[in-house]
Amino acid sequence: MSQLLVLEDDDTIGRVLESSLRLHGYGVSWVRTGRSALAEAASVDFDLVLLDLGLPDIDGVEVCRRLRVTLPSAVLVILTARTEEMDVVVGLEAGADDYLTKPVRLAELLARVRAHLRRGTAEVGGTPPITIGELSVDVAGRRVTLAGREVRLRAREFDLLARLAEEPGVAVSRTTLMTEVWDTHWYGSTKTLDVHIAALRRKIGEVAPAERAPQISTLRGHGYRLERPGVHAGPG
Ligand code: CA
Repeated sequence: MSQLLVLEDDDTIGRVLESSLRLHGYGVSWVRTGRSALAEAASVDFDLVLLDLGLPDIDGVEVCRRLRVTLPSAVLVILTARTEEMDVVVGLEAGADDYLTKPVRLAELLARVRAHLRRGTAEVGGTPPITIGELSVDVAGRRVTLAGREVRLRAREFDLLARLAEEPGVAVSRTTLMTEVWDTHWYGSTKTLDVHIAALRRKIGEVAPAERAPQISTLRGHGYRLERPGVHAGPG
C-alpha cells in the first residue's frame, strides 16, 4: 500500500483529503504543521507528500526543501492558492515535483496521485489488469497482452496506453496526456504524443488484426480516445 503524507493546516481540506485518499486505498498520515510533517517524514518512508505552503509554523517552501532531503525518492506535490504563483516557482525550485491549485478538484488530485505513483517505484500490488475486450493492460507488472500475445512497448508507450485504458470510450485531451504521461509542466511541442500513438497503433496492429484490437481514435483539436471493443476508430 502506498503511504501518503498530507500536510494541511485547514481542517476542512485536510479531512476531505484524508478520507478520499483512504477511500482509494492509500495509507494516509495527516498533519497540520511543518514541524510534525518533518517528524513523520523522519520515521516513515512516504511515497508521496501533499503539502500546503501556507503553514502556521515553518515556511512551506522550507518544509519542502527539507522533505526533499529526508525523502529523496518521494513525490512532493504542492497545494497552493492561485494567487501564490511565485510560491509555485520557488516550491518547484525547492524540490517539489508538481503542484495543484486550490480549490483542489478531487478527481484531478486522485488522477495526479495515481499517475505519480504509477511512474514511481511505489507498489501497485494486487491491482488487477485493465481488460478491454482482448486487450489486457497490467499496470503493476507493466505488461500488455492482446488476444493472449504480449505487445512489447517502450516505457512511454506503455504509460500512454495505460492512461487511455483507464477510461475506455472517454476522450482524453492532449494536455492531459502530456501532463500525466510526460511532464506535469509541459510547454513544448506535443508532436511526440502523435509519434507515440502511431507506434502504439503499429505495435498493436502487429499482434492482432484490427477487428480483435481496441482502436485508438484521433479527435482533431482535442486528443485521443481508446475505443471500447467493437467500436471502429475515428479518423486518423
Ligand atoms: Ca494553509
